[in-house]
Amino acid sequence: MACKSCVEKPVIKLPNNNVQLCKNHYIKYFEKKILKTIRQFNLVEDGDHIGVAISGGKDSSSLLYILNKLAEKRKKVKLTAITIDEGIHGYREHTLKDARKLCEELKIPLYVYSYKEEFGQTLDEALKKYKLKPCSLCGVLRRYLLNKKARELGVNKLATGHNLDDEAQSILMNQIKNNIQTSARLGPITGVKEDKRFIRRIKPLYFLTEREVATYAFLKGFVSEFIECPNSGHGLRGDVRKFLNDFEGKYPGTKHAILNSFLEIMPLLRKDYKMQEIKDCVDCGEPCSQERCQTCALLNSLK
Ligand code: SF4
Ligand SMILES: [Zn+2]
Ligand SMILES: [Zn+2]
Repeated sequence: MACKSCVEKPVIKLPNNNVQLCKNHYIKYFEKKILKTIRQFNLVEDGDHIGVAISGGKDSSSLLYILNKLAEKRKKVKLTAITIDEGIHGYREHTLKDARKLCEELKIPLYVYSYKEEFGQTLDEALKKYKLKPCSLCGVLRRYLLNKKARELGVNKLATGHNLDDEAQSILMNQIKNNIQTSARLGPITGVKEDKRFIRRIKPLYFLTEREVATYAFLKGFVSEFIECPNSGHGLRGDVRKFLNDFEGKYPGTKHAILNSFLEIMPLLRKDYKMQEIKDCVDCGEPCSQERCQTCALLNSLK
């Protein structure tokens, strides 16, 4: 069977329907879908200075490339790339190289911040010393550092490469852990405009599956090799990811259904779980909802 729109050989069959597309038509479909998400949820506005969290992996590289295309057309949008170097040996040094290469090609300034410099130790070093779940520790530190550095750089929105699979996994994980309040902070755009200490997050890849993003990144030659963090695939997220992939295979459309039903209840969740009062962390002064921010509480518990 040929491409739906021409006679060329197809490179992908789209989820949820039987449509197949060739390289050129797939690239057009992919980019159009992102621009539609940006328009639908008003993710990008004139005057925005967007920090793009780039790891050098398939998701964030595709995101940076497309946001750059948009910024070239909309001159009132400025981009700055931000990379967090957790210090994961055999992984981050490779993706960092790809991130630097892409930023140089696109002429986007890149700022790299490391756990070693900011917290005194790499993730690898911390995991050797303490019995902690890698992604729980890594996730808390990354969120903290991204928000702090984005604010210091004068960024007003932070774009992340979260795709449909990531979001469907988070929705399900919050259900499993009875953590519905956390789900109120999901969605294609998070946070409130009024509190400038928390930088709003936008997720333009929200409606694209991991497979779709990987195909695009491969066709565009963004990543030299597909390597995964050695800590990924473990814990609850790894199990939920596997479960959703199995279910998607048996019941196509599962991931989209989870996302779409979540989007229907999201306004109600946000109404019920309005942002709590924002305080200043007693240790570092960063914004938080408790007396001490999650990062300081975690780092203190390790002392
Ligand atoms: S998979 Fe886990 S440990 Fe690896 S970079 Fe992501 S959050 Fe950090
Ligand atoms: Zn075609
Ligand atoms: Zn703190």
